[in-house]
Amino acid sequence: MNLDHMYQEVILDHYKHPEHKGLSVDKDIQVHHVNPSCGDEITLNLSLTDGKVSDITWDGIGCSISMASASMMSGLLVGKSTAEASIVLASFMELMQSKGTMQGDEELLEDAVAFSGVSKFPARVKCALLGWMAYKDAAFQIAEK
Ligand code: ZN
Repeated sequence: MNLDHMYQEVILDHYKHPEHKGLSVDKDIQVHHVNPSCGDEITLNLSLTDGKVSDITWDGIGCSISMASASMMSGLLVGKSTAEASIVLASFMELMQSKGTMQGDEELLEDAVAFSGVSKFPARVKCALLGWMAYKDAAFQIAEK
């Protein structure tokens, strides 16, 4: 992979110092997602309070892309309303499906635009989306309750 050097640093930094890693005791729901093509796994706890993402904690094992992306996802979504979180999620998914043609909306995605280069590599897109899909699933399951 030939990722832009600065973006590579951002991803490695989140991998080494992940945000919200370590599962909370309290949660509304827990989901477990795997990415068999790479061997990445994540367990995610989600709590919603008054329409807001009050807490996301996660634990997992996997490649630097999957773990860094989960770190950025939790950092971005905690504190947002579920509606705002859906907008960020949709923006990240659009970026990851862009096959390298998009730069990403830095206002919405902040550090997560670092994954724009990853979107050129279909095998790694699933790594980058793992944590986000876990959030989406958890939020959906809470809504269904
Ligand atoms: Zn991976």
